[in-house]
Amino acid sequence: MGGDGSKMGRPGREANPQPMTGRPFDDGGRRGHNLRMPNPPLTVYYSPAYAVDGRMETVSKSKLVAGLIEAGEAGEVWLEAPKPATRQELELIHEAEYVRHTLEDKGAFLEVGPWSQPLLDSILASTGGMRDAVKEALKNGRSGSLSSGLHHARRNSGNGFCQFNGLALAALEALKKVKTVGILDLDAHAGGGTFDILGDHPQVYLADVTVCSFDTWEPTDRARHFFVEVEQPKRYLEHVEEALNALERVDFLIYNAGMDTYEKAGGMKGITKEMILKREKRVVQWARARKIPHIFALAGGYKWGGLTLQQVAELHLETVKAFAA
Ligand SMILES: [Zn+2]
Repeated sequence: MGGDGSKMGRPGREANPQPMTGRPFDDGGRRGHNLRMPNPPLTVYYSPAYAVDGRMETVSKSKLVAGLIEAGEAGEVWLEAPKPATRQELELIHEAEYVRHTLEDKGAFLEVGPWSQPLLDSILASTGGMRDAVKEALKNGRSGSLSSGLHHARRNSGNGFCQFNGLALAALEALKKVKTVGILDLDAHAGGGTFDILGDHPQVYLADVTVCSFDTWEPTDRARHFFVEVEQPKRYLEHVEEALNALERVDFLIYNAGMDTYEKAGGMKGITKEMILKREKRVVQWARARKIPHIFALAGGYKWGGLTLQQVAELHLETVKAFAA
C-alpha cells in the first residue's frame, strides 16, 4: 500500500450516515459543517511506513495494532495511508532550524534512534496521520491514527521519544474549521511539549491527567488549562472526568490515548485494565454526547511492566474498538 489513499483491511459497507445535529461551525455554509456520525465505518490512519522493525515500541507497535484491525478484531474499521507531514506543515509547529536538522542532518540522533530514512519516514507518516485523521473526523465525526511519539516534542527540540508534535499539527488543522479544540492527554506522562507549542493559543484547551512527573507543565490560563498528577490510583477515573469537564467548551477533541498509565504497561500501580477500558468508553461517550468530532492517537504503551509487544498492541486496540463501536 502506498500513499495513494487506497483502503485496505476489511471492506466497509457504504456509508449511510445521518446528519449531525450538534452545534454548527462558524463557517456554516461551507463544506465540513455537515458532520455525520456515527454510522460510517471508522477510518484509522496507518501505513507500513509507520513501523520500523527492531526499534522501540514507539515505532514498532503500530504494525501489530494494524494487524489486529486487519484481522477484524476491532469490528468494522478501515485502514488508510495518510499523506506524510510536509516541511511547510512542520514549520507551523516547530522552529524551521529544528525541522531542517531532523530532515537533513543524517548524523543526527532522532528521538527514536540514530537518523535513518526509515525512521524519518516513520515520523513523517505518523505525524501526517494526525492531520488526515482530523480531516476525516471533520467529515465523518471520528477517526484516529496509529501514531505515537508526539506530546513531548516542543517547538525547537524533541524529547521523550517524540520528534514532531502531531497533536499540535492536528489542533491547527482542526482550527481551520472549528473555533476551539481540546487536547485530552491521558498518557502516563505529561504533555509538556504540547504546552510549549500551544499553551498560549487562545483557541486550544489542554487537559492533562498524568501519573508520572515527566514533562509536567504549569497551567498559565485557568480557563483553558487543566493539569493533574494522580496521587491515588482509585481516583484516576474521577480525574479523567474532571479533565473532560475542563473541555466542555471545545468543538473538536484530540485524544492522546496512552496505555502506559496501566500498571502492567509501565504505569501506576493500582490503575487496572478495567479502569483503562472504562476510560476509553467514557471518552468516546463524552464526545458523542456532545456531537463533536473526535480523533485518537495511540501515545505511550511499553513492555517495561512485563507485557509482550503483542499485549501492548492488544491494549491499544481497545481504543480503536471504543471509537469503532
Ligand atoms: Zn508516556
